[in-house]
Order: sequence, then structure tokens, then C-alpha cells
Amino acid sequence: MSRLILAGAGHAHLHVLKSLAQHRWPGVEVILLTPYARQIYSGMVPGWMAGHYTLNQCAASLHHLASAAGVSLRLESLTAIDAATQTVDTSSGTRLHYDALSIDTGASVDVSSLTTSGARCLSIRPLERFVEDWTSLLDAAHRQGSWRLAVVGGGAAGVELALAAQYRLAHEIGRANACVSLVSGNELLPGHGIRIREQVSACLRERGITVIRARAAGSPDGLLLDDGTTLAVDAFIASTGVQPPSWLALSGLALTPDGFIAVGEGQQSISHAQVFAGGDIASRIDHPHAKSGVYAVKSGPVLAENLQRTLQGQPPSPYTPQRRSLYLLATGPKEAVMSWNGLSARAGWVWRWKDWIDRRFMRQYAPGQK
Ligand SMILES: Cc1cc2nc3c(=O)[nH]c(=O)nc-3n(C[C@H](O)[C@H](O)[C@H](O)COP(=O)(O)OP(=O)(O)OC[C@H]3O[C@@H](n4cnc5c(N)ncnc54)[C@H](O)[C@@H]3O)c2cc1C
Repeated sequence: MSRLILAGAGHAHLHVLKSLAQHRWPGVEVILLTPYARQIYSGMVPGWMAGHYTLNQCAASLHHLASAAGVSLRLESLTAIDAATQTVDTSSGTRLHYDALSIDTGASVDVSSLTTSGARCLSIRPLERFVEDWTSLLDAAHRQGSWRLAVVGGGAAGVELALAAQYRLAHEIGRANACVSLVSGNELLPGHGIRIREQVSACLRERGITVIRARAAGSPDGLLLDDGTTLAVDAFIASTGVQPPSWLALSGLALTPDGFIAVGEGQQSISHAQVFAGGDIASRIDHPHAKSGVYAVKSGPVLAENLQRTLQGQPPSPYTPQRRSLYLLATGPKEAVMSWNGLSARAGWVWRWKDWIDRRFMRQYAPGQK
């Protein structure tokens, strides 16, 4: 019997679980390491914050998926990898040997420069903590009757979070009592086309969200901007881009200069043939691409095939990630902005399209689906 360890239940591993539920791999014991019993789908989180979804609609039950796949679920985190001895350590203090290891634990958010803030910090990762923090923020805003919130990070996630937060706070305590700022760094939506940046800027303006093109650090009153001014806030959401988890540095795996797992065609580690990675924790060195859920989803079928091939002693099949991806950004109400290859549109139908895609994605992982 050989042993496959799946670390993390990110987008790619959800597909591996589904694939195992359809066809078990004979002679393979599969273990899933994950700190939480459900996987919250980030694409629907802004819609949940805005009040359009319940949390159950945005989450897949890992108990259900693991049991359907014949996978042994261990509710513990991966804390270390020793690629030389093919072992991993877990948060319960256990050391496990693997014949193949697949890593889809996502990335972390760097909040180190923000921790000195006197305001509440809501980090977007892990999502499990974020959903608790957002719920308690809404309670606090109700009690106080007014709320000043900043979102730090001007990428696609930061924009969606600011718009969702403003929409919900305005609904809960009144628009005049909800003051939302987006601290975007030097540029709003870096890497995106001019048309979508203009549409998003117009939308933020209409909603009364102040965009501050500065970098922020923590200060006793809230945030200290790099022009020396202070932004007083009750709370801020940190959506400041991704960084690799700290345990990766000592793993012995080949890493990219920014510390992510260097993988080649087939999502295989370039240094250790028994190790594969997908989603935000992996960086394709042959075809660099943005870290987004779209690529994480696409790497799922690749991992499912190549893990099985590796365990059968076959070389992995190559996979070329798509060069462009569709972005659908929710804007708070049931409206969204789309961006594809320089084209963009903002409308209710874009929301309905996004809603249809997201619900279809989650339906695959609902009980009773094969
Ligand atoms: C608000 C928001 C909205 C977004 N919307 C979109 C969108 O619309 N489209 C898009 O393409 N991208 C979107 N993104 C980006 C997208 O969320 C990420 O690119 C995507 O989640 C990466 O998926 P992943 O599979 O790498 O890991 P994740 O989805 O981050 O999942 C990782 C899993 O691993 C678990 N884990 C973490 N550490 C460990 C550990 N040490 N051991 C075991 N398990 C661990 C976590 O609990 C989690 O279950 C959004 C991001 C945010 C924050």
C-alpha cells in the first residue's frame, strides 16, 4: 500500500477528492490534512458579506467529500515538510511518511506592518477566522451606530471586499453612518486593463468609498499612511496580497525567489518528483501566471491525473495554464464588473452570470454529487 498525503483542501484538492469519489485508486491510502472541516469558497465571500448568500451556500463539507472519496480526514495542519525523508509534521505532533505529497494550502496574508494598529485587524486569511471577525464587526457597528472601515489592498479581492463591506454596512446602519476607505497602495487593480480600472473607480466613487493611493502601516488610531497622515478607523480588513507560509522555507523543496513552491509542467516540484502543488502556494516556473482561484481550479484535474500516474510509476502529463483569465468582480448589490482580454462591462447580468458560475462550482461538492 502506498500513501498519498493531500495537504490543504483548496480549490485543486476539492477536485482530487471528487475524482477519488468517482474512481478509487487501488493500493493507495489517501490522507487529507486540513485545519477545518469545511472549505469556504473565496469567490462567494463578498456575496456572503453583502448578505446575498448564507455561509452554508459558500462552503463544502470536507467530512462528506472525504468520506465519499474513501480518504482519511485529519483535522490538523501541516506544520513542516522534510522533502529529503519524505515526511510531514502536523499540528498534533505526528510525523507521517508519504510516497506522494500534494500541497494545496493556499497562501498567507502579510499583516506584519499592520499589527501595531490600535484598530481591529481582520485578515482575509484564514477565511474561517475572517467570517467570524466580519460577523462580530457587524454586531459592533450596530452597537456603535456608525463605523469607519478601511480595506488595505487594491487588488481584485480588496476592491470586492470594500464594495461588499460598504453595501452591507450601509444596509445595516445607514449609508451616512458607514465610512469606508480603500487604501490601494500605488495603484488600483495592478495588472488589470485600463477599462476595468476606470469602471471600478467610477463604482467606488458612486458608493462613496474613498480610494487612498498610499501604503499603510499600523498606528495607535488606526493606520499610518506613507505620506505621514493618520487614517482613524474602527477596523480594517487586510487584503495585502499573498506570501508563502513560514514552514515552506525549511522544507528542502526548490522555491521561487519569492518563496513559493517551484513547479514545472504537470504541477510537479522541480526538485522532488514525489511532490506536487497547486493553487496559490505553487508557482509555475515555465509559465508564470497570476495567483488566483481560476488557476487553482484548473490545476485540480492536473493534480488528480498526475498524482495517480506518479504512484503508478509513470511520468506526469504536461499541462499549460491558460494565458488569460476572466475576472468577475462583485460590486456589493446584485451587480458585477467583468474583465476579459481588454473588454469590460458592469451590469446586473454580470452578477447573474457570476452567481450561476459560483453556484455551479459549489454544487459539484454538495452531498449526493458524484
Ligand atoms: C475575498 C476574495 C475573493 C476572491 N475572489 C476570487 C475570484 O472571484 N476569482 C478568482 O480567481 N480568485 C479569487 N480570489 C483569489 C482566490 O481566493 C485564491 O487565489 C484561491 O483561494 C487560491 O486557492 P488555493 O487552492 O490555493 O487555496 P485556498 O482556497 O486558500 O485553500 C487553502 C486550504 O488549505 C487550508 N490550509 C491552510 N494552511 C494549511 C496547512 N498548514 N495545513 C493544511 N491545510 C491548510 C486552508 O484552511 C484552506 O482550506 C479571491 C480571494 C479573496 C480573498
